[in-house]
Amino acid sequence: MHHSLTSALTHPHAHSGRTCLLALVSGPGGLTGSEAARRLARHGPNRLPEVRGRGQVLRFLAQFHNVLIYVLLAAALVTAAMQHWIDTGVILAVVMANAVIGFVQEGKAEAAMTAIRQMLAPQAAVLRDGQRVTLDAAGIVPGDIVLLEAGDKVPADLRVIEARGLAAQEAILTGESVPVEKDVDPVAFDAPLGDRRPMLWSGTLVTQGTARGLVVATGAGTEIGRIGGLLSGVEQLTTPLVAQMDHFARWLSFLILLAAALLLAYGYFVGHLPFADLFMTVVAIAVSSIPEGLPAVMTITLAIGVQAMARRHAIVRRLPAIEAIGSVSVICTDKTGTLTRNEMVVAAVETPEGSFTVAGDGYAPTGAITPAGDLGRLARAAALCNDATLRERDGLWSVEGDPMEGALLAFAGKVAPDIAATRLDAIPFDSRHRFMAVLTDGPEGCVTHVKGAPERVLRMCGDAEHAHWHDRAEAMARGGLRVLALAERAETADRIDGTALEGGLTFLGLIGLIDPPRPEAVAAVAECRAAGIRVKMITGDHAGTAAAIAAQIGLENPHRVLTGQDLDKLDDAQLALEVMGVDVFARTSPEDKLRLVTALQANGLSVAMTGDGVNDAPALKRADAGIAMGLKGSEAAKEAADLVLADDNFATIAAAVREGRTVYDNLKKVISWTLPTNAGEAMVVITALVAGHALPLTAVQILWVNLITGITLGLALAFEPTEAGTMARPPRRRDAPILSGELVWHVALVALLFLAAVFGMFSYALDRGYPLALAQTVAMNTLVVLEIAHLFFIRNIHGTSLTWDAVRGTRVVWTVVVVITAAQFAVTYLPPLQAVLGTEPVPLADGLLIVALGAAFFALIEIEKQIRLGLKG
Ligand code: ATP
Repeated sequence: MHHSLTSALTHPHAHSGRTCLLALVSGPGGLTGSEAARRLARHGPNRLPEVRGRGQVLRFLAQFHNVLIYVLLAAALVTAAMQHWIDTGVILAVVMANAVIGFVQEGKAEAAMTAIRQMLAPQAAVLRDGQRVTLDAAGIVPGDIVLLEAGDKVPADLRVIEARGLAAQEAILTGESVPVEKDVDPVAFDAPLGDRRPMLWSGTLVTQGTARGLVVATGAGTEIGRIGGLLSGVEQLTTPLVAQMDHFARWLSFLILLAAALLLAYGYFVGHLPFADLFMTVVAIAVSSIPEGLPAVMTITLAIGVQAMARRHAIVRRLPAIEAIGSVSVICTDKTGTLTRNEMVVAAVETPEGSFTVAGDGYAPTGAITPAGDLGRLARAAALCNDATLRERDGLWSVEGDPMEGALLAFAGKVAPDIAATRLDAIPFDSRHRFMAVLTDGPEGCVTHVKGAPERVLRMCGDAEHAHWHDRAEAMARGGLRVLALAERAETADRIDGTALEGGLTFLGLIGLIDPPRPEAVAAVAECRAAGIRVKMITGDHAGTAAAIAAQIGLENPHRVLTGQDLDKLDDAQLALEVMGVDVFARTSPEDKLRLVTALQANGLSVAMTGDGVNDAPALKRADAGIAMGLKGSEAAKEAADLVLADDNFATIAAAVREGRTVYDNLKKVISWTLPTNAGEAMVVITALVAGHALPLTAVQILWVNLITGITLGLALAFEPTEAGTMARPPRRRDAPILSGELVWHVALVALLFLAAVFGMFSYALDRGYPLALAQTVAMNTLVVLEIAHLFFIRNIHGTSLTWDAVRGTRVVWTVVVVITAAQFAVTYLPPLQAVLGTEPVPLADGLLIVALGAAFFALIEIEKQIRLGLKG
């Protein structure tokens, strides 16, 4: 190979774009599909090598790093020293069971998170066979031509071959957060990475402008691949609530250990109990009261919530968002594509010649325009000032690119087929200046076509008839149409002179597009309002259009609209006052979004905010729950967001709120079940010990109950479905403590009832003259039945448990009930297990009594809850 070509492969920044194209055997039209497939086979997919997490062995060993396990291991050592082999065996079995279960559960939670992350695989637009196609970034090969615009993430290392106002943020490579400008000119051979202006690096973000880049390296061959960085930090499976409980559980464990040590001393020195029995009892107390399983079950609950959200098309990028989204009290949403379908059709046209209606639906370029007239110049502008392409397959037309531009192409096709010209220059659309300009060379010579927001384009057209067209645009917008103005200017140069556009354009006409509201969004807005959540629309569109759509969607107050200009006149304090009463904000800029989030937060609201552009990132980060659009959103917005909507649909936000509330409820249920259960078990034993009474349960039995209920009942609540009425409640307060007075009361009440019931049954059995072992078996089964009854109670913390649905339960609930019942029958009636646990067969009548007692306990706490709910009103 020629020397400079080899050098262009290793140092593309030092050679011209053309040389690089030659070196990579590619052209301005990109590769052919078959050549790309060959290169993919040779180079492999464009993916960074997996950063491997902890190995399985390490992950298993980590399960033993846990206060509970330390206590158990110490206990195993002591019992072994005393040659109590059965105890040692049981304890070691409990240790292994805990470790295996923790390992499996954690593995499932991690796998769920990994699967979710893969749903966010980036896409890229490339040229194949001269056509623009969007594909999975993993399919990109060296030699491909990639098309980029502001907000895109660079999918591979690229040599820029065409650039317009291009800048990229390269912090992940260089640590420099200020965007650097890029262009096509080669730089010195030995320029450092940050100074290689004609290069775009994989993983960096395009912050402005547009570009075409030639892929020079993919996957592990890219700069970022070489330093092996990116994504190395495996996300922690935690949220504020789980972290808080983790902390709580840890300190509670230490408290319990200290108390257990004191009990041991008390029993030995004051109670003069034999050390061996006493030791086992104290261990049993510690094990039954330490809530070490709690954080693990909460993690599973989160993972299940993340999966449930993903099924509803809401992808959680940061776990804390799952809690935040459940507590939002206001949702700020954009309009196009979220509340509306973003399936556009041109319906009306107004030109100096007259008004026209356009028939036809979808993107097919067929349909009558009435009355007949000459719309040729308008159609040329619509077709040439356009980046989209239409595609037909089996009579179905679809758009590649912006749907609004697709609709313009369809309209142009209805006027005149085959409008073509060579593009010389362009000013890309930017939501800040709200227009786009394209300079082409065609049969009519060089012409710049401009399209954009009417007030912006009219300003560029001088002042003739300005007011008239403003009124016309206003009237179209009031009808709910999205309005664009088109204009043109003959050009002599081959570059667009931005300043000459101002005042130098000839107005061509107005185009009105229909973008119907999504029917499901209407229902979702109603659902949110019932759930005490305000919905506000923040759009870049015209005030008239925004108000019309807001009314169709059912926002509370659609007719008071504040525009970006209005917002500029308010200072932050005034805005904080105004913001509460207004539901529609039009012609806003991304900076306005940030101010609005802040103003709403100043009112104590918890804000969810949607966004799609690069400039929305600060608002998304500031919001309590930042939500990016999965389809039309830029990579920059997705990276800043907590949540990504796979379908861009407002209804998905409502679904996410619902799931978020469910997850929070379930976390609360897990806590409300575990803490009283632990307290109850511990109280039973402590009371017996301190009162010098015979133990109602042996130490081994307590270990058993703790193990079997922990892996069944304790986990079942993680799978609870949404409670009825979840979306009829107002949002919870963000600062509401989880360990509320109500919970403390519930812990105390349940612990006392456990104590009374277990001791009651134990004394009753002894009274009947049963041997101690049988009385203890009765007590153990009572404890388990109470825990099951408590589970059924906890399932409905907000409503009544005495409905058919509540009794019917779920598959998970019944499965665990069946498993635990079978296990209890086994340890009560199977001789080998009786030998291990020291149990004796319970007579049928007593068995029924135990179940009846469970039912009575359930009725008692249920009535108590109804009284409490009644008092709350
Ligand atoms: P939303 O913020 O709800 O998504 P939007 O799509 O109208 O609404 P922007 O994308 O900021 O918001 O667009 C603002 C305005 O700029 C539009 O109302 C339209 O007048 C104009 N506009 C949008 N896209 C283009 C484009 N590709 N070319 C020219 N003008 C455009």
